Amino acid sequence: MSVSHSDVLIIGGGVAGLTLALTLASRYKVTLIRPAQDDQGASRWAQGGIAAVLSPTDNLDAHVQDTLIAGDGLCDEEAVRFTVENGPAAIKWLIDSGVPFTPDSAPDAPFPYHLTREGGHNARRIIHADDATGKAVIDTLHHNAQQHPNITQRNNLVVVDLFANQAGACSGAVAVDSEGQSHTLYAHYTVLATGGASGLFQHTTTPSPNSGEGMMMAANLGATLMNLEFQQFHPTCLYDPDGPAFLISEAVRGEGGRLLNQQGERFMPDIDVRAELAPRDVVARAIDAQIQAGTLGHVWLDISHLDEAVIRHHFPTILAHCASRGIDITRAPIPVVPAAHYSCGGVSTDLNGATDVSHLYAIGEVACTGLHGANRMASNSLLECLVFARSCAQALLARPAVTSFPPSDNKAILTTSNCSAPDSAALQTLRQSMRASMSQYLAIVRRQEGMATLDQTLSELTDQLSMLDPDTRHPDSRRLKHSLQLARMSVLAAQQRHESRGLHFSPDWPEQMPVARPSRLRLADLQEPAIR
Ligand SMILES: Cc1cc2nc3c(=O)[nH]c(=O)nc-3n(C[C@H](O)[C@H](O)[C@H](O)COP(=O)(O)OP(=O)(O)OC[C@H]3O[C@@H](n4cnc5c(N)ncnc54)[C@H](O)[C@@H]3O)c2cc1C
Repeated sequence: MSVSHSDVLIIGGGVAGLTLALTLASRYKVTLIRPAQDDQGASRWAQGGIAAVLSPTDNLDAHVQDTLIAGDGLCDEEAVRFTVENGPAAIKWLIDSGVPFTPDSAPDAPFPYHLTREGGHNARRIIHADDATGKAVIDTLHHNAQQHPNITQRNNLVVVDLFANQAGACSGAVAVDSEGQSHTLYAHYTVLATGGASGLFQHTTTPSPNSGEGMMMAANLGATLMNLEFQQFHPTCLYDPDGPAFLISEAVRGEGGRLLNQQGERFMPDIDVRAELAPRDVVARAIDAQIQAGTLGHVWLDISHLDEAVIRHHFPTILAHCASRGIDITRAPIPVVPAAHYSCGGVSTDLNGATDVSHLYAIGEVACTGLHGANRMASNSLLECLVFARSCAQALLARPAVTSFPPSDNKAILTTSNCSAPDSAALQTLRQSMRASMSQYLAIVRRQEGMATLDQTLSELTDQLSMLDPDTRHPDSRRLKHSLQLARMSVLAAQQRHESRGLHFSPDWPEQMPVARPSRLRLADLQEPAIR
């Protein structure tokens, strides 16, 4: 077992974690925990781009309005305005950091970089690096972080717990390495940048999604979780039962892609005036209805009517991936299905990423700032990662210089070491059952009856886990326990919402309540003790 100390411990090295590390490193010694492989988490897979008001023909109020409309009455307007207003500076920081965004060489271009449109945006405001924006941002920021003397990267650790001192302030984390050795990481400030919880569901848009472990680690320390019922399903994931998860970016619809049903007919114009560019929840439900009514198991997304050169220029990654799966998108439509994609809910924070646990911050998809409300608008999430990482950095830099480390509760630190491994195949089976049940009962359409069944199933899986590892001390069972707790809290949040709003659609409660209220839950609401 090793012990280390840092001023700031950042858990997760996607766009949020890397941005924070680079912004803080001027003054603080930072420890950044990120896996050696960039295919973990979501950032590396982001395709479409980052929304911000960059064109002189666009304006901040328009971006605010579009975000509020997509959020279906549940956005925190202050968080929306804060994000939108700080967007252009965040993009400038990325450009100055060297991210190779796609230029716009047209003589009448309003901005030096190409801006595309996506669902819900009433202007071209998505800056991108071809159709692989996340990879371009991650590669650049990671390269810069590797050069920085104040950033120590630990890329063989998985964090399993946070711990607090007697005053309840977070004072670090416990991690395990690939050999199963535990490591205690003391920190004056701990920042969760662990991504979302799409991995609670069976079908996802990334091959290695997060399962919200960071959210539950925070909840076990007393943090509030907010809006967990609003899980976004991306309408268009490649339907490929034998291949890896692969997203077909919304930009395909932004550039003119048409959704076709089994009969080859467009169905979106009859449902929404914005047709294929309606917000994601509207499009995902419409696709779901078409799939339920047909026998194919998917719908089609057709872009073959566009000029081949345009397709090759804008969508080289999608073109190459589909070609590798036997689909020539310049000639044939793409089979697509909705898949779990983005968690609008998470650890409740203020505009600086502060949670309600002292010395614990959360940024990026693990957090719930109020920006997305009941439905995230396309390309606003990378923007949120950047803006809140930067505001969190400013808040930490403004705090008094770190002098000493707070005393910690050693009992918590010892919990994961020296315990025997439970049957890993049995744990895997429990996790698969959880994901299948979540997809069956808490996906695009939820019913009270199905959610009651789901709650019962999750309780049974929790009991089975307790039989396999009574104290859940082993890291693998501890992580599964966190996932099961988060799944149950998500069900509870959905059961308590007696309306249909944004991503939460229930035929049992088809109307909207007159006043939109965010959901807020603590672990105690599950009537289950914190993991100790
Ligand atoms: C396919 C796809 C396409 C997308 N396209 C866009 C887009 O075009 N525009 C947009 O704005 N958004 C897009 N999104 C959403 C956006 O990519 C994510 O919201 C964003 O990247 C989240 O970044 P993050 O830094 O918060 O988390 P992530 O990038 O998910 O990073 C989290 C990191 O934390 C690590 N981690 C998690 N748990 C632990 C632990 N216990 N111990 C140690 N490390 C841990 C993970 O390994 C990972 O490295 C897309 C998402 C997907 C899945």
